[in-house]
Amino acid sequence: MNNKKVAIITGSGRGIGAATAKLFATNGYAVCVNYKLNASAANAVAEEIKASGGTCIAVQADVSQEDDVTRLFDTVDHQLGVVSVLVNNAGILRQQMRLEDMSADRINAILMNNVTGYFLCCREAVKRMSTRHGGVGGVIVNVSSGAARTGSPNEYIDYAASKGAIDTLTKGLSVEVAAENIRVNCVRPGLIHTDMHADGGEPERVERLKSKIPMQRGGQPIEVAEAIYWLASDQSSFATGNFLDLTGGL
Ligand code: NAP
Repeated sequence: MNNKKVAIITGSGRGIGAATAKLFATNGYAVCVNYKLNASAANAVAEEIKASGGTCIAVQADVSQEDDVTRLFDTVDHQLGVVSVLVNNAGILRQQMRLEDMSADRINAILMNNVTGYFLCCREAVKRMSTRHGGVGGVIVNVSSGAARTGSPNEYIDYAASKGAIDTLTKGLSVEVAAENIRVNCVRPGLIHTDMHADGGEPERVERLKSKIPMQRGGQPIEVAEAIYWLASDQSSFATGNFLDLTGGL
């Protein structure tokens, strides 16, 4: 077992999660790179971390599935040690469309992944971190979205609503566990250059919309990762239930 602090970054085979996993590893954390489908991408992130002298495991687990989440945390317990940072990042969106065209299957898939998945990972983290259960504390950072405030009309209101739920989760849980040495905070990225936009059917979405961003550009995954890292660090030791918007002023 290693003696480093342990961070679990859900959905870290690519995009914001991959940048976050690498940043935590660079700063001395033992990192669990979690993914759902793309093993080669996750393994590449893990190999890059290990090649730089870091400690990392890649674990397949669909965070929307309860058994997968318990297996993910049990695996980390056994292979890295007790988690001290959870970054809830694994989010999905689907093809852009208006609400009247959405099926129940689609809406439920978004909510299962983006809401139930975050809740289940918080549950397993709190069980291990809370002083109430004999733990020593920890930090949870939830990755929400600026969409929670805009509602994403004509694109994906279901996705935006799932992120609104994450803001509420952050608020409630932060107070529930504040006296148990657990801080819970949230980042709300705006338009970030990742492959997620292709899943919505528009790979160049950030380029199309960048003129609406006061800073006139989209963000890079590392710019979100740095904020997540700060919220997980002792530098933000009095911050809990707080939201950091990373939107270039949008
Ligand atoms: P991304 O490039 O699409 O990457 C998503 C990652 O999550 C992938 O590695 C994927 O793994 C993993 N994942 C998806 N569902 C999963 C599940 N059920 N279990 C485990 N892993 C799962 O996404 P991103 O743009 O980096 O976004 C990361 C987070 O930031 C999301 O929560 C997103 O909502 C939020 N965000 C993004 C933006 C943006 O502009 N990009 C803006 C605001 C908020 P596999 O490939 O293996 O399936």
